[in-house]
Amino acid sequence: MVTDSLVYMGQQARGHCLWSLFDKIISREIPSTVVYEDDKVLAFRDINPQAPVHVLLIPKVRDGLTELGKAELKHEDIFGHLLYAAKIVAEKEGIVDGFRVVINSGVSACQSVYHLHLHVLGGRQMKWPPG
Ligand code: 5GP
Repeated sequence: MVTDSLVYMGQQARGHCLWSLFDKIISREIPSTVVYEDDKVLAFRDINPQAPVHVLLIPKVRDGLTELGKAELKHEDIFGHLLYAAKIVAEKEGIVDGFRVVINSGVSACQSVYHLHLHVLGGRQMKWPPG
């Protein structure tokens, strides 16, 4: 059986372009556990969770939006939708009373997949400042 983690490790090992990884999750070529979906966004569980709830939220159409640092004014609507969808995910996951939304943008922020994504994290006491 091919699991999410085996697919991920295989891609890392072969040095696949990770910008295309989330496109393949959208098209279901790569399996994932979807927790929310609408016409604009997809939310699925992170393969390497950093909290009891760790969901990734991505726009279905990348439109050049590889990272927050490359955002343009034309993307403002999708940002609003992503943030509202993060709240819906938090409600569905039972963490709406306390959760964190993170966007890693660029190499020095440890971004590893170049398809804009929000991390929705919760289910434990968070610390501040983040590392
Ligand atoms: P970044 O480091 O770019 O902010 O976050 C990328 C996230 O994608 C990481 O938390 C990583 O665990 C997750 N990830 C990478 N590959 C896969 C995969 O194939 N499936 C799932 N569900 N998550 C993945």
